[in-house]
Amino acid sequence: MDTVAKDRSYFSSVCVEKCGGVCCDPWWGIISYPVVKQGGLSSLSSFRAELVKGIRARAQRIVEAYITSEEPPRALFASPERYNVLARDIRSSGTTLTMNLVAMFAFRCAFVTKDRSCSIHPSILGAEIRPPHCGFLGTPEASPGQKGYCRIIHAALTGGQAEIEKALAVENESASRNLEGGVTTAEEAADRVVENLKAWCERHAPSLMPLQRPSAPPGRNDPCWCGSGQKFKKCHGK
Ligand code: SF4
Ligand code: SF4
Repeated sequence: MDTVAKDRSYFSSVCVEKCGGVCCDPWWGIISYPVVKQGGLSSLSSFRAELVKGIRARAQRIVEAYITSEEPPRALFASPERYNVLARDIRSSGTTLTMNLVAMFAFRCAFVTKDRSCSIHPSILGAEIRPPHCGFLGTPEASPGQKGYCRIIHAALTGGQAEIEKALAVENESASRNLEGGVTTAEEAADRVVENLKAWCERHAPSLMPLQRPSAPPGRNDPCWCGSGQKFKKCHGK
């Protein structure tokens, strides 16, 4: 058995026997990209529509990229089960707002089994047909923050069962936090970004807020006074 094969079977036992496929159930895709909003917080409904388009396009990019390495290839994912979107490093210059959007997509892989192992894993099929960017591919050489870093594999390499349990608890806790804190549509994800942006402007750049709260609230089905494009009852009227 060559070194690569040995490594693979070693990681198979860590991933399947000790971990149970935390990184595949669900599998999280994270894409970070810059977003610019001109004109302060005016025209929020068209900005929201752009956000939805951008989030959907990135989810689709993942769906198209994650295919098996066999011929013909098979797709791992359909559409995201949950979304988490964060607007980071928000800044303003005049009426231009810039931010870094971190879009997280939870996908259910078509090949993850009930016991959270991989049904196309090479130790089962004897052939490597997973995409190289899949889970179950942590490497001991990778450092934290680098591609291939897995705290569970590192715990297995450097410590005993207690360290593995500790690393698993951290990963499981973060996986459920992301899942429970997520939303189910790209539209809801875009709403979150708009809310983030409004909250930031209210605090750091109040002059960019489009409208002031009226003395008398609008009707429940009327557009919200803040310019979000949503009905008052679904926005500030909640
Ligand atoms: S790479 Fe890490 S998180 Fe993924 S299955 Fe293996 S041990 Fe678990
Ligand atoms: S193909 Fe296997 S390793 Fe890749 S995401 Fe699916 S279950 Fe995980």
